[in-house]
Amino acid sequence: MLPSFHYYQPESLAEALNLLADLPGPKKVLAGGTDVIPALSRGELAVEHLVSLKKLDELREIRRVGANLHVGALVTFRELVSSPLVAGFCRLLGEAAAAVGGPQVRNQGTVGGNVVNASPAGDLLPPLFALGAQVKLCRRGGERVLPLAEFLLGMGKTMLMPEEILTEVIFPALPGGAASSFVKLGRRNSLAISRISMAVIIFRNRQGRIEEARLALGAVAPRPVRAERAEALLKGRCPGPALLEEAVAAIAETVAAILGRRASAPYKRVAVKGVARQALLRAVPEFGKP
Ligand SMILES: Cc1cc2nc3c(=O)[nH]c(=O)nc-3n(C[C@H](O)[C@H](O)[C@H](O)COP(=O)(O)OP(=O)(O)OC[C@H]3O[C@@H](n4cnc5c(N)ncnc54)[C@H](O)[C@@H]3O)c2cc1C
Repeated sequence: MLPSFHYYQPESLAEALNLLADLPGPKKVLAGGTDVIPALSRGELAVEHLVSLKKLDELREIRRVGANLHVGALVTFRELVSSPLVAGFCRLLGEAAAAVGGPQVRNQGTVGGNVVNASPAGDLLPPLFALGAQVKLCRRGGERVLPLAEFLLGMGKTMLMPEEILTEVIFPALPGGAASSFVKLGRRNSLAISRISMAVIIFRNRQGRIEEARLALGAVAPRPVRAERAEALLKGRCPGPALLEEAVAAIAETVAAILGRRASAPYKRVAVKGVARQALLRAVPEFGKP
């Protein structure tokens, strides 16, 4: 059963920001509710005021503005999956959205909720890290834009202030030649002890040599981590099976160092190799060609 609270459904962003600024006591924003409602009914969350964003259509858009893509906070996983802009300029974000829960969660769950919930297993976070995303936070009388890497502080912790609303995530649209992929191991409600995800973006020159690799791992630390050693060793080289195994080994070493002696470490140390191999091959099939 849900505890009692005051429920508000503002008609505009300005009205929502005024409510958040003026309401006293514990308050929370409600988007799709797929994290908030279960937490309320389990008694893990106590609020006096719940401010729904449901009617704020201005937060539902995906737009291209110059070189950037702007994804509104209320865009759902399903909308990411079916968006031509996402398919054209950040395919890995659509792949990550497609990998989320079941159809009901994909219909309800939003980009803003996934980012603010800041779960280590949040599926949109590794792709957004790799894309170099920023988040726009609005409050009455002001706004700020922060890199996602600064916004996420750790498990369930962010820089969001109680009177702020995350209105959109912004990142550079990927050029046509960029290769990318998202691979996830495990299902949220399965009995598997743990899961890992990986987002890959690779830029190559005309000769096929790798100019830049961005590899972001999810669910191995409280927030996504970049596999920097593997990124460095890929730079300037041509994909092939030997380089693939070098990169996989470097990624596995990075993950092993992060996991330390955690209970899930023995499983994840092995599992990450399969995830990394699959993600790199999916992004750049030449990794598999001698
Ligand atoms: C059965 C089930 C399966 C799931 N499977 C997955 C999965 O596979 N992968 C995955 O990543 N997640 C999964 N989730 C988690 C959840 O669906 C996602 O985290 C989702 O993105 C949350 O979005 P929401 O709109 O429902 O957020 P809500 O529940 O409405 O809100 C979540 C948090 O974000 C805050 N918030 C939301 N929007 C804003 C905003 N615009 N500004 C400021 N604060 C905001 C809320 O106050 C709250 O703290 C699953 C959940 C369930 C119940």
